[in-house]
Amino acid sequence: MYLLNKPFLLSPLTNKAINKNHRIAHHHEFTLPLSKCYAKPTLIFEFIIMSYAEKIERQRHYFNQNITKDMTWRIEQLTQLKKLITDNEQVLCDALAKDLSKPYQEAWLTEVSYITTDINHTLKHLKSWCKTKRVSTPIIAMPSSSYIQPEPLGTILIIGAWNYPLQLILAPLIAVIAAGNCAVLKPSELASATADLLEALLPKYLDQQAICLFQGGVEETSELLACRFDHIMYTGNSQVAKIVMTAAAKYLTPVTLELGGKSPVYIDKSANITIAAQRIAWGKWMNCGQTCIAPDYLLIHQDIQTEFIAELQKQIQLMFTNSPQSSDSYGRIINTKHTERLANYLTDTNLDVSYGGETDISERYMSPTIVINPPSDSALMQEEIFGPILPVITVTAIEDAIQHITANEKPLAAYLFSKNQEDEQTWLQNISAGSVAINDVMMFTAVADLPFGGVGNSGMGQYCGKVGFDNFSHLKSIIKRHFIKDLPLRFAPYSTIKLTILKWLR
Ligand code: NAD
Repeated sequence: MYLLNKPFLLSPLTNKAINKNHRIAHHHEFTLPLSKCYAKPTLIFEFIIMSYAEKIERQRHYFNQNITKDMTWRIEQLTQLKKLITDNEQVLCDALAKDLSKPYQEAWLTEVSYITTDINHTLKHLKSWCKTKRVSTPIIAMPSSSYIQPEPLGTILIIGAWNYPLQLILAPLIAVIAAGNCAVLKPSELASATADLLEALLPKYLDQQAICLFQGGVEETSELLACRFDHIMYTGNSQVAKIVMTAAAKYLTPVTLELGGKSPVYIDKSANITIAAQRIAWGKWMNCGQTCIAPDYLLIHQDIQTEFIAELQKQIQLMFTNSPQSSDSYGRIINTKHTERLANYLTDTNLDVSYGGETDISERYMSPTIVINPPSDSALMQEEIFGPILPVITVTAIEDAIQHITANEKPLAAYLFSKNQEDEQTWLQNISAGSVAINDVMMFTAVADLPFGGVGNSGMGQYCGKVGFDNFSHLKSIIKRHFIKDLPLRFAPYSTIKLTILKWLR
């Protein structure tokens, strides 16, 4: 008698949403009489919104009991999360293979072991991060002691993207738990195998009262965003980031936005061509180019362009053979829509496709592709590519490359290949980007103490390591004084002598 199912086609929601809501109903163990739903379909809609709000309210109540603030709880949850990963490594990699055809080694390196390394690092430093830190007190406020105490924020919403569907949900979760918060997770609906698996596994390992997962797409995420959170962490594109920020403004909820954009590479003529080509080929064609910090396009010094492209082609063949479609080391595009989006770029007759360009939409496949000097107003140079197409632009000097980059939005990552120290200084002084790597790509993500996050259009806020802990904490300022009588300097009535002494003390 109390079951949500297909008859709810009368509901204002879509069929898909109804099925997802069924899942939500299961989560909440809530019940609703069928008769009510047939009679008043809008009630279901309200009820579903309420169900999110109710769940979050229940979480807030749990948070207020101070259970998640306890160090033992945090350590236990992080240890359990690590156990979830190690117990289920194979099925997690299988799910990633189902969603993105991720090769096992790639899935292990960039998702599974990334999470366990992050947990180990967090467990190692957690006690020191949580410590109250003393700061010095000026004479005017003496005698007293001043210190900073990190405190958790409350309930945090984490919205993930599809390209690293495990990492983008669990890495923020590590920082959220470490800081002593509750979490609501919303993985991307586009990587549904990973989302389904996480939904099944998380309750078996983690404290369900503090950590829950909701599945769904735009409608469900919009409903979640209508609720009050203490922080929202969103990973995805900048258009949706604006929707997230607008929703957050309603309750003045702080946000962390992990976005993307066009991450450039400049290769100077002094660079080691073979090593540069190998590293760039790895970073560009891992996960079929669907990495937020993958090189989006190359700016190459004119003197080495021909030699570099020949070397890049050689590296592609060494990594993925002459037939990447049959290579076990080459992934696939997430879905048909994105494959078509990428294939559309190549229909531009103005493009000089010098390598690759083979597409098989039914297999969600596109080969590693190199395009020489596309027009700057082409879609390929205006939009984030987020796929296996690599434009190569000829430049005459580093200044030329910098001018090109700074004319556009600030990138999430910017890469320089050069042996020249002066180039390095010029690059660091002139390029504002979320992260920079010199003579490599993406490797800053292997360093647990380096914060990760964009700047300007590529995002706001950072996480990873201590910075992630601080991001999901409030750093409470405390001053403690004693009942020792004050010098009357700060109190009225004011006088010239009091002001003179105050100025002198400063
Ligand atoms: P996506 O389609 O999976 O969307 C991300 C999340 O937003 C999903 O959970 C989705 O349900 C939700 N969403 C989508 N539309 C929405 C809407 N209208 N209202 C509310 N929620 C909505 O992922 P995507 O946006 O295609 O991700 C690719 C982008 O993310 C690229 O720009 C990439 O560079 C960026 N990215 C950034 C990082 C980073 O760490 N900075 C990591 C991965 C991807």
